Amino acid sequence: MNFKSIISFIFLFLAVNELAFSQKQTKPKNVILMIGDGMGLAQICAGMVYRQGDLNLARFKKIGFIKTYSSDNYVTDSAAGATAFSIGKKTYNGAVGLDSLKHAQETLIEIAENNKKSTGIVVTCTVTHATPASFIAHVENRNHYFDIASYYPNSGVDVVIGGGMAYFNKRKDKKNLIDTLLKSGYDVFDSTNDINTINSTKFYKFTNNYHLPKMSEGRGNYSEIASLKAIETLNKNKNGFFLMIEGSQIDWGSHDTSLSYTVNEMLDFDNTIGRVLDWAVKDGNTLVIVTADHETGGLTLVDGSLKDKKLTGKFSTTEHTGIMVPVFAFGPGSDEFSGIYENTAIFHKIINLTGYKCFK
Ligand SMILES: [Zn+2]
Repeated sequence: MNFKSIISFIFLFLAVNELAFSQKQTKPKNVILMIGDGMGLAQICAGMVYRQGDLNLARFKKIGFIKTYSSDNYVTDSAAGATAFSIGKKTYNGAVGLDSLKHAQETLIEIAENNKKSTGIVVTCTVTHATPASFIAHVENRNHYFDIASYYPNSGVDVVIGGGMAYFNKRKDKKNLIDTLLKSGYDVFDSTNDINTINSTKFYKFTNNYHLPKMSEGRGNYSEIASLKAIETLNKNKNGFFLMIEGSQIDWGSHDTSLSYTVNEMLDFDNTIGRVLDWAVKDGNTLVIVTADHETGGLTLVDGSLKDKKLTGKFSTTEHTGIMVPVFAFGPGSDEFSGIYENTAIFHKIINLTGYKCFK
């Protein structure tokens, strides 16, 4: 080999390496979508004041904004908001996993399952509530909790952690969906089981018959522990996983126009984000996206002090608002999440980046 061919060989080697490197950088093996229900910029800023410094959210470098309006209303509800993420289409307020013409569309969880990924849901509300429901069920009205529960056993989702056991085994139609789950090969745990002792690759862990308590009522670090348990379990699949984690009660704090309820839930969600991010940094193959379905309460911060941990917040409504909400991304493909775009683009970006094939 002469000098010239050695040089061209080195260049070829570098070019091939760079290609392999850039592919590894942009194609995530795993995706974790974290939804802070009702988490607008004011809710995030309020959390920063009470932490007297930066949140884990400040560790993200790729930041964007989404437009949250639904197909029939400038101000979305959580069902249309989550359905925009789960099916990639705007729909009407109240719709769960349906497009605006009430046609069922494949959700991210169903698509990930069809692509041989493991999937999971971790929430701090009932698993039948609007946000998680929109990844599992196809119903016309978000309040039909018993209908929503009946979609779970056939959804293929591998790990489900949250409240709402009563919708599975205390049903008006007398069906016992817990038995159905057990027959389908799931392990099912209730509030008496310690989540840390679970050693199963397909399980439901119901923490409560209905919703989980607030942070101020002693929920503790459930969200952090449940999220890490789900990650550890789903990561056993060599094909990768898709996990949706919701900080469900930031929204409820702001509906209640309670700054302390909002902040406690915001900080809990941020602690979970920190644990997830630590894991993703080590893993290197996981795309983490943190966003919100909408802002709640029209919260404005009119006075405050970082030094004294004091804040005066004013809520302009007890409902949601139409203001844009932030998106934070980390990991392979995170560059794609900078900019201003529709909430539906979250779905399309995930599909494009992962290469998940849609069969329907
Ligand atoms: Zn709400």
